Amino acid sequence: MTLRGYCDGGGVRQNLRRVQSELLYLTDAYLRTFTGRVVAVDGDRVGLDRTAFYPTGGGQPFDTGRLNGLKVIEVRKEGDQVWHALDGDAPEVGAEVEGEIDWDRRHALMRTHTALHVLCGVIWNEWGKAVTGGNMEPLSARMDFEFDPLPEGFGPRVEDLVNAELAADRKIEVSFLPRGEALADADLIRTKVNLIPESVQEIRVVDIVGLDKQADGGTHVASTSEVGRIRVTKTESKGKGNKRIRLAVVDVDGAVDG
Ligand SMILES: [Zn+2]
Repeated sequence: MTLRGYCDGGGVRQNLRRVQSELLYLTDAYLRTFTGRVVAVDGDRVGLDRTAFYPTGGGQPFDTGRLNGLKVIEVRKEGDQVWHALDGDAPEVGAEVEGEIDWDRRHALMRTHTALHVLCGVIWNEWGKAVTGGNMEPLSARMDFEFDPLPEGFGPRVEDLVNAELAADRKIEVSFLPRGEALADADLIRTKVNLIPESVQEIRVVDIVGLDKQADGGTHVASTSEVGRIRVTKTESKGKGNKRIRLAVVDVDGAVDG
């Protein structure tokens, strides 16, 4: 599939709200604890009727945390089930469970994911280049763009532009649009929303107001100021028309980590 970057990849996979689990993180990224009921068991893995745990997708890695005190060591979406792999014996189908996500890790991922959307918006506005891929870890990430070659002085310039947008305290709004409305939105057309499978009739949209709007299933902070700042740690060529940017997310007065 030739979707633009990790962001829309996430949009495609994560937009499907009609899975067996109610995906609580899609409407409330700040939810840290929840109660749910076990609806499926597969070895050490459980599926729940509702979950705040984010499963790997769209370039964003899964949440860790605990279910009924047991460590959640991996979360994956397979078909219409979100599976929580546990470090211990799984509770039985029908059991009520209390979940708690590892908030430090999740919040770091939210800051990082939002930083990447700001980067997408800045690069599109300034150079008109599209994303070709990317991935993130808590507070570090890489993204590839269709540059060939990178402009002179690109690293410091893009760092300044992104940090100016972060400091501008732009609000981030999440909404669900009927497919027809999303397809007619000029900003979403640029991110190839039309390539989302027709079976997806409701498109989740993450809007960094005034900067970047994408179909996306990830978790984001509420305002760009919550990201902090970024440092461009490396730029490299990954071939013709594909240049990689590595960045670190840091506190406003913080130092680069690693
Ligand atoms: Zn995204």
